[in-house]
Amino acid sequence: MKFLIRDDDLSFFTESRLIDEKYEDILKDAKITFTVIPFVNGQAFYYGNQKNNIKKIAENKKLVKKIKQLLKEEKIEISIHGFNHKNLKNQKAEFQLKNKKIIKNKVLKAKKELEKTFNSNIKFFAPPHNSISYEGLQILNELKINYLGAFNIYPLKIFTDYYYFKIIIKLIWFKIVHPKKTYFKELKYKNIILILPHTITPYTTEKKFKNIKKSLK
Ligand SMILES: [Zn+2]
Repeated sequence: MKFLIRDDDLSFFTESRLIDEKYEDILKDAKITFTVIPFVNGQAFYYGNQKNNIKKIAENKKLVKKIKQLLKEEKIEISIHGFNHKNLKNQKAEFQLKNKKIIKNKVLKAKKELEKTFNSNIKFFAPPHNSISYEGLQILNELKINYLGAFNIYPLKIFTDYYYFKIIIKLIWFKIVHPKKTYFKELKYKNIILILPHTITPYTTEKKFKNIKKSLK
């Protein structure tokens, strides 16, 4: 069986033993993309320290060692997952920001930090809550960083209008898909490559499956 997994929110607060516990067996058959928060804010997650302070992932030495090893073995990939993952004052997701200067600064700092910490080139950006402003997409395009997003059901409808693009992409995917019923489609929007997984679940009806197949032709 072939499958891909995306696991979000790796941060200072992640215990490295969990990687072994959860993935030791799976890593024999599948590659995992971890999306990583470089400067997590304690308030961003319930399991954080709940303080409004910043914790660099580099400070979790055990985790960094583990991830570096897995990267070396080419068993995993990592993607930037925001800057600190804290929602904005208006409760919108971190990268729904519209100020291009701030966005650019955050993306570049995040990339630099992760590349330095893991000694690895990073080509993907997955915004927290899979939510990003149009300005954010323009910055990713400018920086030639790929956007990592996911959704299921009829993605092509969304791409009939690229401006619609700015409000759509959502849903983190963590699904095991049946090999014969899996479709991947790479779409290019300027410099951004989107990888759209089609996730077929046991609840997918025959009719829905046929429609998905048709939409990808
Ligand atoms: Zn997240």
